[in-house]
Amino acid sequence: MIVEQIWTGNAYRNFNYLIACAETGEALAVDPLDHKKCLARARELGWEITQVLNTHEHPDHTGGNSALIAATGARLLAHANARDSIPGIDRGLQAGDVIKIGKTVELEALDTPGHTMCHICVLSHADVPALFCGDTLFNAGAGNCHHGGHPRELYSTFANQLAQLPDDTLIYPGHDYLANNLAFTLDREPDNEEAARLLAKAEAQDPNHALVSDMALERRINTFMRLGSPAVIASLRDIFPDLPQQPDPAEVFLKLRELRNSW
Ligand SMILES: [Zn+2]
Ligand SMILES: [Zn+2]
Repeated sequence: MIVEQIWTGNAYRNFNYLIACAETGEALAVDPLDHKKCLARARELGWEITQVLNTHEHPDHTGGNSALIAATGARLLAHANARDSIPGIDRGLQAGDVIKIGKTVELEALDTPGHTMCHICVLSHADVPALFCGDTLFNAGAGNCHHGGHPRELYSTFANQLAQLPDDTLIYPGHDYLANNLAFTLDREPDNEEAARLLAKAEAQDPNHALVSDMALERRINTFMRLGSPAVIASLRDIFPDLPQQPDPAEVFLKLRELRNSW
């Protein structure tokens, strides 16, 4: 499996992806908002885009569909329940469905509600596992729930699915929010030295060559994956004195999500 991360350079800081079979050159485009860049990159690499996957229905993820499909004839894949919100779906996905690309790539669809209720993440079980996570998990952060989502569902997705993934799973999110999210981590957990070191790097990084994190790193720098951390709980209790000393992880997650909304 070959992954091309495409930085759109737009105001929303979207990342688009091409995932290709090394043997046949067939490729799947994930949320190809910048259809021109996606097509140009595929052409440069000699790849043929045969499928488009939308992680969810927001326009900054679906806005490139029609132009890219008109240019390639690719099939459109998205959550089975997104048929009313995403026009032209050829294949509705449910949890456990397998998406094949060429001869060598197989992705598993995960049903990951929270950011919206029709959100799909896809997981590759290749030599190195990789997760394409749209607006559910970001580097050092979590998606918001402002436009059709639910924080409790997002927590369940994190706890029951994402937190179960192996340490070496590479993380490919739908936006570059790394620097902002690390600043939030440090606001909640000022002693997190790794987050501080990474923030300096993130502020200087060229998003065309962005850091690709893995689950092990997220577990160290992503507040939303550090729900049992005494430092995270202590600083939350300063703001929410009613929070017990050993709170339920769901409560910690919901309070963090609430703080992040207005941070
Ligand atoms: Zn979104
Ligand atoms: Zn988005």
